[in-house]
Amino acid sequence: MSVKNPQTLEWQALSSEHHLAPFSDYKQLKEKGPRIITKAAGVHLWDSEGNKILDGMAGLWCVAVGYGRDELVQAASKQMKELPFYNTFFMTAHPPVLELSKVVADVAPAGMTHVFFTGSGSEGNDTVLRMVRHYWKLKGKPEKKVIIGRINGYHGSTVAGASLGGMSGMHEQGDLPIPGIVHIPQPYWYGEGGDMTPDAFGVWAAEQLEKKILEVGVDNVAAFIAEPIQGAGGVIIPPDTYWPKIKEILARYDILFVADEVICGFGRTGEWFGSDYYDLKPDLMTIAKGLTSGYIPMGGVIVRDEVVKVLNEGGDFNHGFTYSGHPVAAAVGLENIRILRDEKIIERVKADTAPYLQKRLRELNDHPLVGEVRGLGLLGAIELVKNKATRERYTDKGVGMICRTFCFDNGLIMRAVGDTMIIAPSLVITHEEIDELVTKARKCLDLTLEALNG
Ligand code: PMP
Repeated sequence: MSVKNPQTLEWQALSSEHHLAPFSDYKQLKEKGPRIITKAAGVHLWDSEGNKILDGMAGLWCVAVGYGRDELVQAASKQMKELPFYNTFFMTAHPPVLELSKVVADVAPAGMTHVFFTGSGSEGNDTVLRMVRHYWKLKGKPEKKVIIGRINGYHGSTVAGASLGGMSGMHEQGDLPIPGIVHIPQPYWYGEGGDMTPDAFGVWAAEQLEKKILEVGVDNVAAFIAEPIQGAGGVIIPPDTYWPKIKEILARYDILFVADEVICGFGRTGEWFGSDYYDLKPDLMTIAKGLTSGYIPMGGVIVRDEVVKVLNEGGDFNHGFTYSGHPVAAAVGLENIRILRDEKIIERVKADTAPYLQKRLRELNDHPLVGEVRGLGLLGAIELVKNKATRERYTDKGVGMICRTFCFDNGLIMRAVGDTMIIAPSLVITHEEIDELVTKARKCLDLTLEALNG
């Protein structure tokens, strides 16, 4: 990126001199400097060089209602003036957290009427770990401690979140996972299905759960945690056979099921939750991101009534965060859900924009660099390969990052997960903006191919 605005250089210098950024290659960041994003409206961002960029990732999967919604600003401002902070510890509460609990319960699957609030998705999954172990202890089964996650699953970046997730790069830093967390293979047919049909692979991947439960011993297993669709792992949509088989296995064993809805929740699949889309009936659901459309940090865990009943008999739950149920975040969450409901945004995703995006995205299947296009709701993935027939990759070329850079330079944000390009635009994206996204994506695929051949 060539820099023309002197202020960009000043900000980049501040980055180099003072900022330690999350999930970044520090050496590269110091050399090249970050792209500075300065403002946003709808589904578009502007950088400090004045470039307008279509945000194909809704920030980090979170800006559900789009940028620039003044109602959310007003809700925050009003609450800040009235009660900017009070905690929800030690037998206190405030109106926004109580009203938001009710509204979240209204949109949650039946039988899940209580919410524990946190400041983020990671803290939500820390809460999950503490809560499921506390639950089993109260049930007189303290040895049921082990939580089963999935390789390449993502559940956040705190010690518990990163341990529940199955990202090897995260495990390598900090001796993770912590004890009591084990992982099974992911249902990633395109990358790992080999010669199996997707359906056969889906059954195989689900059966790994049963195998692991038996290996660990059902008396030691507290819970299984999974994203309905893996997001950060590369928008991995399980084969049709996967979730039905997992449900069958879960029904056979007395363990809790935790759906991590941080990405799928609040409409991304065209239903309120990914668990609604797949009819998963979880015991706990982790939420964040779309809860406040990312305008202010907030996460939480929605808990099934049977679990709450046990917790209610258990005395103190020695867990919580200063910002659990923060009043300003709660006020924004309330207004955000009001917008989602009143404007029927999720209904529109399901009936209109998701089918349109999926149809248009699949046109990219004819591109020589594209091995597979998959997607569901407003989630999409494009697999970049050297050989379509054999699914062979361009090894060591970093094709995903090449493509991502072309995207950024040509006014589109697509994220690269290895050589998989992924998108998750705001739920308010229009047909015209979807057209813009697909046109720019094709151009950047062309540029990537040219760079590889050149
Ligand atoms: N779970 C999932 C499925 C996620 O995608 C994320 C964030 N991308 C998290 C948990 C962690 O959320 P946070 O970054 O808010 O801690």
